[in-house]
Amino acid sequence: MASRQQAKKKPPRKRAATRKAPAVKRSASVALTSGIHLDQDFLTTVFNVARIGICLTDENGYFVEVNPAFCELFGYTSTELVRAPGMPGARPFLDFVHADDRSLVFANHLRRIRGEPITAYYPFRIVDKAQRVRWLEINAVLLKWKNRRTTLSFLLDVTERTALQQELRQGLIEREAILDNSLVGIAFLDAENRVKWNNRMFEQIYGTTRGELIGRHAEFAFPTHDDYIAFGRAAGQTIAAGGVYEKELPMQRQDGTRFSAFVSGKAIDNADLDKGIVWVVRDVTRRITLQRELSQTLLEREAILQSTLVGITFSVNRRHLWLNQTLARMLGYEVADLIGQLSVIHFPDQPSFDALGAAAYPMLASGQPYSTEAQMKRKDGSLVWCQVYGNAIDAHDLIKGTIWTFVDISERKRAEAEIHRALEKERELNELKSRFVAMTSHEFRTPLATILSSSELLEQYSEKLTANDKKEMFESIRAGVERMAKMLDDVLMIGRAEAHMVEFNPAPLNLAEFCERLVDETRRTKSSAHALAFSFDGPRRQVVMDEKLLRHALTNLLTNALKYSPDGGTIEFNARLADSIAEFDVVDHGIGIPAEDQARLFESFHRAGNVGTIAGTGLGLAIVKKSVDLQRGSISFNSRVGKGTRFTVAIPLS
Ligand code: ATP
Ligand code: MG
Repeated sequence: MASRQQAKKKPPRKRAATRKAPAVKRSASVALTSGIHLDQDFLTTVFNVARIGICLTDENGYFVEVNPAFCELFGYTSTELVRAPGMPGARPFLDFVHADDRSLVFANHLRRIRGEPITAYYPFRIVDKAQRVRWLEINAVLLKWKNRRTTLSFLLDVTERTALQQELRQGLIEREAILDNSLVGIAFLDAENRVKWNNRMFEQIYGTTRGELIGRHAEFAFPTHDDYIAFGRAAGQTIAAGGVYEKELPMQRQDGTRFSAFVSGKAIDNADLDKGIVWVVRDVTRRITLQRELSQTLLEREAILQSTLVGITFSVNRRHLWLNQTLARMLGYEVADLIGQLSVIHFPDQPSFDALGAAAYPMLASGQPYSTEAQMKRKDGSLVWCQVYGNAIDAHDLIKGTIWTFVDISERKRAEAEIHRALEKERELNELKSRFVAMTSHEFRTPLATILSSSELLEQYSEKLTANDKKEMFESIRAGVERMAKMLDDVLMIGRAEAHMVEFNPAPLNLAEFCERLVDETRRTKSSAHALAFSFDGPRRQVVMDEKLLRHALTNLLTNALKYSPDGGTIEFNARLADSIAEFDVVDHGIGIPAEDQARLFESFHRAGNVGTIAGTGLGLAIVKKSVDLQRGSISFNSRVGKGTRFTVAIPLS
């Protein structure tokens, strides 16, 4: 073996090995403890060229010989290692051993010395010259060397292998940790469907204690044996075909309670199902409950939205994406008719649609709700008044949609109109009252004054008055009374008509004869300056008409014609009877009606501006209009001032 002097020269390892050979030759053979003798040269060669580190240490562990491979392992030269105890720098083998492994190495050394059995090769760590930790595997034998008790050690560098092993172990530990802490239950079942391994969550899901499931048959997880069989059959097919079997199914915990599980399984090796199957289980009870609750809530919401009396729509770009039945009904459509439609479909026209959009969207974009009253068009074309209220889902992004509510306010509008009409009526009545007061103060005074003066004259000058004078005076009193009575009749008639107390009572009537009677009566009252021309066109047959109302209408028209033709002339009265209608014309050539008065002609107490001193209360035409309306007829006229007037009345036959 290499002496210290030789080592000092620091020869290259190879050469050192060849030169070391003669040193070994000093004895012909080496006696191993086992008593086997080996050829010295052979041993030297092995010692020098072996890729395994070999060292010979004395009783105290100091190096006696080291081979080049050993030097390489430790990073020191043989000179640095092989130093007699007590020499400067002399270090025993144990000194190079990693602090954590020293007790192990020493303990094994002692066992070896005591002849106790130890593992042939065991690993430990050393710290080399570069302070790197290296894993070595050592096998040592006790050896008598030059009468000294030495130890021959064989050292194999297993750093790389150990690192790989450690990496692998670490990897496995990590993987195990991951699997163990996974939020899903994982189990590995063997060919007999017994649990070979499972993670913590798997135990949590089934409510078992740690390790309790190992070796258990998978059937424990199923509510019944049949469930297990059915599942196994279905899963087996998919898994055997190399697929992943997934299913949501009821499973059973250890305590017998049921839960919904989502299970997926896959074979470790598709080609050999006996290698086992990995099962992943998730408890989806919560999810299913949530889903159920959610759909229940959605159903309830939908029901609320559908049953509300308010029409609601969710629209994007003015297109209905969702709407409730109330709105559809309000607009006379089915919900399905409107989904996807532009809302212009239920606006009265394009301009009203555009106007609402132009007013609403800038407001919605500014984050304010929009509200208006608008008319919407039903499917049948009729209009409905709605209170429209709009709100944006996100004011900054109207494309996310807008919510619109519609309340049918037709009733309110009707009521408003009703109130408006009532107020109008009230106003009219007030006006009527004041006109009545004005009229009576004027029109009643005249006949009253006549009656008064005539009666005074009769009282005071009774003797001096001739019979003719007296007759004239009585005549004027009678005329005054008649005029007042007629005025009272008219006022009463109008009052009753306004109060809807005049009824339409049609009865059989010979129209031609009725007209002739009327003409006769009129002729008797007319002045000699007037002529009354009458014609009747049509069959002289019975019709069913309200004689009283007809008389009111025609008498007033004829009276007016005579009264407003102060210069006399011919008055025409033409009656025509057809199958379902009777028509009457009353034509005069009198003063006519100024255009500005024509619109208000049928109002009570209204008199045209050109009447001059012609007496009248302004009630006649109002009575005509009422009686024509009651007979569901119509009245029209045309008139030119100074030329004359034509009134036409048409009455449908009942
Ligand atoms: P009353 O008929 O109550 O005695 P009146 O004749 O003035 O009074 P209406 O018969 O209601 O009232 O007629 C209303 C007004 O219409 C008249 O005051 C008159 O100005 C105008 N008028 C009606 N008929 C004619 C006619 N034929 N020609 C010209 N003006 C007429
Ligand atoms: Mg009149």
